[in-house]
Amino acid sequence: DVMKNIANKLGFTYSATQLNKFAYLQVLRKKHYKKPADLIGQTPLVELTNFQLPPGVRLFAKLEMYNLGGSVKDRLGQNIIESAVRRGEAADEVVEATAGNTGIGLALACQQYGLKLKVFVPEKFSVEKQEIMRALGADIVHTDSALGMVEARRQAQAYAEKTGAYYANQFETEDNPASYSGLYNELIDELGTIDMMVAGAGSAGTFTGLAERLKPYTRTVIVEPEGSILNGGPSGSHRTEGIGVEVWPDFLKHDLIDAIETISDDEAFQMVKDLAQKEGLLVGSSSGAAMVAALNQAEYVKGNIVVIFPDASDRYISQQIFKTKGEL
Ligand code: PMP
Repeated sequence: DVMKNIANKLGFTYSATQLNKFAYLQVLRKKHYKKPADLIGQTPLVELTNFQLPPGVRLFAKLEMYNLGGSVKDRLGQNIIESAVRRGEAADEVVEATAGNTGIGLALACQQYGLKLKVFVPEKFSVEKQEIMRALGADIVHTDSALGMVEARRQAQAYAEKTGAYYANQFETEDNPASYSGLYNELIDELGTIDMMVAGAGSAGTFTGLAERLKPYTRTVIVEPEGSILNGGPSGSHRTEGIGVEVWPDFLKHDLIDAIETISDDEAFQMVKDLAQKEGLLVGSSSGAAMVAALNQAEYVKGNIVVIFPDASDRYISQQIFKTKGEL
């Protein structure tokens, strides 16, 4: 109603969506944020026009690198900790198994609530993410990369059982997909209708949180690297970081998935370079894989495609993010 009054005073009549946009602009125009944590969510959506698309298709990238801690998982860290506190389940210490971005998101949230954080990280993952987690106060324990996330999860759970720490448990908790209701709302506010949604699966929380809300109106595409098991392939190592699953996530329901795209490391890393050179976008390899998948699937829809770009290139410099296999 406040917005309607302002609109009337200015001599405009606004539809509901326009009013939403108006309110959104007011938020963007505000002089400052009250605290750094308010910089989680409300990330920019940008149309990409320098890749060839079928007629009638527009492609939009949601740039999750603009969250406070630099990735989509800040939304999860915030929601998991807030939910645990609200339910009275939070202990003085939180423990989690993560490839890194979840650890950063949790570290930010733990800081706000004055909680300690311990993370179990397979040692192969990018040192940048580990340094950032440490800077935010997390205590890191390395696990054997050859034993994958399964081993990191086993150790995190054992630690929680031994010490009474709160196990965030992103791979199993319903708090994970629930973390993305805000992401869904932002996308609907921005686009009105979404004809296809493309998201990579690490825990599959982002995909599930969006797909649950977008079904049945939207074609949903889940993205994994070669070496991930969703399409029935064998489990194996991959360079693409942040996505790929070793066991089918509990909360990932088959009827939420219209297509599974399995992308090779080479395609993903080539796309990281293409996005830099054609669009000036510096994204991580999971964004590269998602973009390849979106282009592969573009022929099946008309209208708006949304691709989630989870993080930025600069936390993978040590991993030679701008080099394909032939260039390493
Ligand atoms: N990309 C990157 C870089 C990530 O860190 C993650 C989270 N591990 C994902 C994609 C996948 O997100 P989700 O766990 O919600 O499937």
